[in-house]
Amino acid sequence: MPLLLEDERTQIVDVCRRLTPDGLVIGTAGNVSLRRDDLLAVTPSGLPYDDLRPDLVCVVRVADGEVVDGPLAPASELGLHLAALRATRKAGANAVVHTHSRAATALASLQGVDELPAMHYYVAMFGGPVRVTPYHRYGTPELAAAVEAALAGRTAALMGNHGAVVVAADLPTAYEKALQLEGLCDSYLRALAAGTPRILTQDDIAQVVQGLKSYGQSAPPAQG
Ligand SMILES: [Zn+2]
Repeated sequence: MPLLLEDERTQIVDVCRRLTPDGLVIGTAGNVSLRRDDLLAVTPSGLPYDDLRPDLVCVVRVADGEVVDGPLAPASELGLHLAALRATRKAGANAVVHTHSRAATALASLQGVDELPAMHYYVAMFGGPVRVTPYHRYGTPELAAAVEAALAGRTAALMGNHGAVVVAADLPTAYEKALQLEGLCDSYLRALAAGTPRILTQDDIAQVVQGLKSYGQSAPPAQG
């Protein structure tokens, strides 16, 4: 019998194996999900990523989070994943990557900082400056609601005193954007440490958003 959502569960295992070496999480922190239709494949709670296999990835219903397949309990942040997908449905999001990457967490823990501003034009890939939510305890509906609100018109949010969440249409894109967000947070912290960052205007970012719509190339078919 083929595994339910086998492709999605396999993709999640592949991505989870990269989280620690890429510096996006330490230990079993963070979690990843990928939707297909009415179902969501999501990392199980607290399992070392080295031990993760496709059959151990949980499958839940998007509508109510009920477990449909998999022997382990889903990530404690399942509610956050469902809220993030709800908030970004119109943008076509299917994949969620939640990390505790260092620079994003540091920035999300600074007094008086309520966003990653448009210091670098790459914030356009998230729809503009990335909001920081207030602190709420992990796994709570309050945290999920705060992230849902912070994702309005955005594809990423920073979670106060906690980490980051990034969404995209597919998992490779969400993962790449999680790496980019960490890089942007790192650059901003360095600039803050050295002086006063120069912030781009809304118009600057709007122009980049337009440009990104036509950016990127696909490899042409092989000759012969
Ligand atoms: Zn977390």
